[in-house]
Amino acid sequence: MGTNMANNYLKLQFLSLPENQAFARDAVAAFCLPLNPTLSQLSDVKTAVSEAVTNCTVHAYRGGRGMVTVECSVNGDMLHITVSDNGVGIADVEKAVQPFFTTLPSDERSGMGFTIMQTFMDEFSVSSNQGEGTRVDMTKRFLSEVENA
Ligand code: ATP
Ligand code: MG
Repeated sequence: MGTNMANNYLKLQFLSLPENQAFARDAVAAFCLPLNPTLSQLSDVKTAVSEAVTNCTVHAYRGGRGMVTVECSVNGDMLHITVSDNGVGIADVEKAVQPFFTTLPSDERSGMGFTIMQTFMDEFSVSSNQGEGTRVDMTKRFLSEVENA
């Protein structure tokens, strides 16, 4: 992610432990406060980050230890977030992003994480290579209430 054009930039790296999910979500929320988000916008971003980070824990590293990287940059009223891992990767990304698709149905996974990210953010894309890792890119535009009306 380019830092040269950004108004602000943050990079977090942490072990894929479940207890780090809240930390990652809250750090990203704090980072976007200068954009004056509404509570609803803030909640959308936190939910999307939680889903992406949870996927690193449960799928990429299958409950084992691995590093998760979360990068955020602000450009004007746009927040760009990248969540990446060096885990197992995804065999068929097109299939994985479909609603209700999950490779862990026995684990009470509903297969809705990617769909939630896509719905709550303005732009969303996934790239992955098997055995190398996965990268999720998301953008949210912080329109003011007036512009939103
Ligand atoms: P839910 O998010 O509803 O608990 P889920 O995690 O299975 O269920 P998604 O988040 O939509 O659903 O992910 C769909 C599938 O994509 C997963 O079941 C998994 O096979 C794959 N996947 C998602 N993220 C990763 C990742 N970071 N590394 C490897 N595989 C992933
Ligand atoms: Mg998920």
